Amino acid sequence: MAEELRIKQLEKISGQHPCFSGKSNMNKGRVHLPVSPTCNIQCKFCKRSLNKTEQRPGVTNQILTPEKALEILEKALELCPDITVAGIAGPGDTLATPYALETFRLIKERHPELINCLSTNGLLLERYADELWEAGVKTITVTVNAVDPYIQAQICSFIFLGDRVYEGVEAAQLLIDAQKRGIRKMAALGAVVKINIVLIPGVNDDHIADIAETVSQLGASIINIIPLIPQHEMADFEEPGCQELSEARAVAEEYLPVFRHCQHCRADAVGIPGKGDLSHLLYEFGGQEQ
Ligand code: SF4
Ligand code: SF4
Repeated sequence: MAEELRIKQLEKISGQHPCFSGKSNMNKGRVHLPVSPTCNIQCKFCKRSLNKTEQRPGVTNQILTPEKALEILEKALELCPDITVAGIAGPGDTLATPYALETFRLIKERHPELINCLSTNGLLLERYADELWEAGVKTITVTVNAVDPYIQAQICSFIFLGDRVYEGVEAAQLLIDAQKRGIRKMAALGAVVKINIVLIPGVNDDHIADIAETVSQLGASIINIIPLIPQHEMADFEEPGCQELSEARAVAEEYLPVFRHCQHCRADAVGIPGKGDLSHLLYEFGGQEQ
């Protein structure tokens, strides 16, 4: 996508979507619909969970069917009329199962005014890009933690693709190649692509410029760098401090605009990100560890 068009698109979406600039973070809302239970890769820091307390990605109170998700969306719109975005961000990968696409199709039919927004690890993004675009997905977040397979292999234990499990550098290279193809395709279709990078000190903190340069060339519009939450196989790793985070953001900003208002929301978050989560008003809480 031409540079100028990309900037114009980002400006336009920034006024409507709370997570593509600081501009709308305090006055536009999103609802996350947790319809995607499983994943097709294993990031070493990922611990998905069903509970009502933790405020982080990968956590939801419950998994919804696409039909139930539509009901929750309707209630969320009544509760918070400033919601402009219907997002699906897990708790697993949104393309590992068909439910995210099914949900977006239902939403597009009933609420074509909403922006459909998807987060993914990108492994299957190229395969589903046309269908996502058809289903009204206009903004997308792809998590790209490395573009060097030797670094990615330290972050991702394995990937599951076409009935096979791949490990190590082979898995990492397959994932990186798939992410690149997916980002390029979504950007070419006209979607605004945000890149999430989980900053992992000692692993990818010296690699931010390479990631930012690569995704910029592929057509991404904005970068969101989020600090590692040390858990699962990375439980003993250090969480980056404010200084490290701020340095990484400055490096990325040499290549693309950087989003600095991310709240690290749950997979069932509801409302205006800068004003707190309303999901407890929509769900009957229960749940158990997954
Ligand atoms: Fe967890 Fe997302 Fe990584 Fe899958 S892609 S393992 S859901 S962090
Ligand atoms: Fe927005 Fe960050 Fe929350 Fe995603 S996790 S909805 S980018 S604030």
